[in-house]
Amino acid sequence: MEECLFCRIARGEVPASVVYENDEIVAFDDISPQAPVHTLVIPRGHYDNLSDGVPSEVFSAVFSAVPEVARVKGVEDGGYRVIVNNGPDANQTVTHLHVHIMGGAAMSHGMVQMERS
Ligand code: 5GP
Ligand code: ZN
Repeated sequence: MEECLFCRIARGEVPASVVYENDEIVAFDDISPQAPVHTLVIPRGHYDNLSDGVPSEVFSAVFSAVPEVARVKGVEDGGYRVIVNNGPDANQTVTHLHVHIMGGAAMSHGMVQMERS
């Protein structure tokens, strides 16, 4: 059994505000939202990140869920930003592949701020 936090959320062992789920993925609100809508989509299976040999069907399940989650969260029409932090320079803090869906307000044109160049 994976002890990873998001594996535990996927198994229902750690509480989360689940907004959508199916056999392959779970979507839940971020505990520390950085936008009015900030929801994460994770595969139920554990992959560290995009570079962890993720099968195409897992990518398909995760990204197919994104518009569904956007609809459930009410940001489908207004638009939303999708972010995957991958590895240290991107500040990936939880090592279980996840997609951030952020929306509910107009966002900056510049997508990121650099801490160092
Ligand atoms: P990362 O920085 O790895 O791309 O994103 C990890 C995200 O997971 C962060 O936005 C953080 O707020 C969120 N997070 C960390 N721990 C928990 C938790 O226990 N529950 C939920 N719902 N989100 C979490
Ligand atoms: Zn995991």
